[in-house]
Amino acid sequence: MTTEWRSRTGRIGVLTGAGISTDSGIPDFRGPRGVWTKDPIAELLSTYQNYVADPSLRERAWLARRDNPAWQAVPNPAHKALADLERAGRAVTVITQNIDRLHQRAGSSPERVIEIHGNMFDVVCIECDFHTTMAATLERVSAGEPDPPCPDCGGILKSATVMFGQQMDRRTMAAATIAAETSEIFLAIGTSLQVEPAASMCAIAVRGGADLVIVNAEPTPYDELATEVIREPIGTAVPRLVAEILAA
Ligand code: ZN
Repeated sequence: MTTEWRSRTGRIGVLTGAGISTDSGIPDFRGPRGVWTKDPIAELLSTYQNYVADPSLRERAWLARRDNPAWQAVPNPAHKALADLERAGRAVTVITQNIDRLHQRAGSSPERVIEIHGNMFDVVCIECDFHTTMAATLERVSAGEPDPPCPDCGGILKSATVMFGQQMDRRTMAAATIAAETSEIFLAIGTSLQVEPAASMCAIAVRGGADLVIVNAEPTPYDELATEVIREPIGTAVPRLVAEILAA
């Protein structure tokens, strides 16, 4: 087994996908019990052009946001282990595809977490700079506004997430790229590495000299680039890896 990477002392980049949050009760999107596998309409709700074009889809989207299991979710041992790694003094940057804020809730510093797909706790207007919290907006939904408009301009409100058909935020992607480029250890956890540009972060990290370590149940297109591939469940693999890094 390759163990040398554990003793590298430089920056640690971590890319996380849905797989790190399933132990917290948040279903992934495309797996066998995934949200879209069970309910194809949910994918329509997540496509920007449909959302903007169809008020009835927006009404469904607000109800889906209200009923999202992520509100009840709490961080699991994998989120906590990554927060411990930062707390131990290591320079850790988490690049996450998840919108559930579980890294921050586990104790990772908000400024060390890059949310490339946005988050579900904030709401933005698609027309102007207005932004507010999801909690405040869901109160408007409960109070009888099924598709609450922007209070400033009357425009369409949406969660502060990156929907299908939307561009990723350029500054966020630049920050993620720098984190990958400057890592000595790059952990890809619970992501199928099939969605760009998140997946290419692995290639950027390796090109920058990082050891790539993949923790995922299924094979990924980047396994061949990896120093080590771990198929063990994330909930045990990540705490073990963090302990090994800190002990090395
Ligand atoms: Zn507005």
